[in-house]
Amino acid sequence: MKRVYNFSAGPSCLPLEVLEKAGSEMVSYGDAGMSVMEMSHRSSYFDDILQAAKSLYRELMNVPENYEILFLQGGASTQFAMVPLNLYSKTNKADFMITGSWAKKAYQESARYGEAKVIASSQDQTFSYIPKVDPKDFTPDADFFHICVNNTIYGTRFKPENIPDTGNVPLVGDMSSNILSEVYDVSKFGLIYAGAQKNMGPAGVTVVIIRKDLLGHAKDFTPTMLDYKIHADNDSCYNTPPCYSIYICKLVFEWVKANGGVAGMEAVNKEKAQKLYDFIDNSKLYKGTVVPEDRSLMNVPFITGSDELDALFVKESKKAGMENLKGHRSVGGMRASIYNAMPMAGIDTLIEFMQKFEKENA
Ligand code: PLP
Repeated sequence: MKRVYNFSAGPSCLPLEVLEKAGSEMVSYGDAGMSVMEMSHRSSYFDDILQAAKSLYRELMNVPENYEILFLQGGASTQFAMVPLNLYSKTNKADFMITGSWAKKAYQESARYGEAKVIASSQDQTFSYIPKVDPKDFTPDADFFHICVNNTIYGTRFKPENIPDTGNVPLVGDMSSNILSEVYDVSKFGLIYAGAQKNMGPAGVTVVIIRKDLLGHAKDFTPTMLDYKIHADNDSCYNTPPCYSIYICKLVFEWVKANGGVAGMEAVNKEKAQKLYDFIDNSKLYKGTVVPEDRSLMNVPFITGSDELDALFVKESKKAGMENLKGHRSVGGMRASIYNAMPMAGIDTLIEFMQKFEKENA
């Protein structure tokens, strides 16, 4: 069986154990005599899967009891609309930090429904850093404050200790590309959302953690399917949920738990990222594009300084069994996405290749 090292930013690699387990249960799940893909979402089999996924996620993320966990559809992009439609409730004002393309899209969508204000932006330096902010600049009566915690395209992150303190204003965090990778304090947020397709499972499910007092304030014209309260009241089964994706998430959550939980993931992720950043920093050919203090543990962009060499790097790395190392089209260069499921051996293989490539092309 051929397996490559897949450095894709998303959808990305899943733990081999999870894929094998799913394979073994593909045709018949337990004694059900049918695949999870074929079962009713109202069956006791699926309800057990859903409840297990929910309670594992609560345990892994240490989600307090006053928060609801929802399994939704429409990707993180639908959250860009759902957040303002549900959270603009008193003043119709919200603050945004623009730290990349996804953060900007969230801002633009919110601006359609209320008064969205940019508190800080790092666009002036191609989003290569996380701007420092002064809470004095925050809108004191805003309905929410939005950040993108890990910037997939540019490779920056808000470290857990740098999450802005927004006081009574609910903080909303897009954690699509760093969910379950590092310990964050959920109680600092009013709402966290993450598309599954990087660290949790297949595309098709988006997991939302929402503080219960933020439910029930959706604007009148909000489509029923975009009202968090509808999904909370119906335990994520208002309509047919993405059953198979939720099932794979449950297997991934079990894998995370068996490997030391989020703290265990964090320890390995820090080791993996450090190894790669150290190599880049000590090389003469490669250059990281992000200021060291804001570097992501999940997405590592780097360049050679020559478009031809970058293109050759991507081509040759593919031949060496590594996929998807091309940087995002808006940035160029290379990007190694090293999510939870990327083993240390993948980092070692990449570094070995980078050394060889440097020698041959210096
Ligand atoms: N937010 C972040 C941080 C992302 O990385 C992505 C996709 O890569 C999105 C949002 C959009 O997610 P989706 O494709 O699930 O709508």
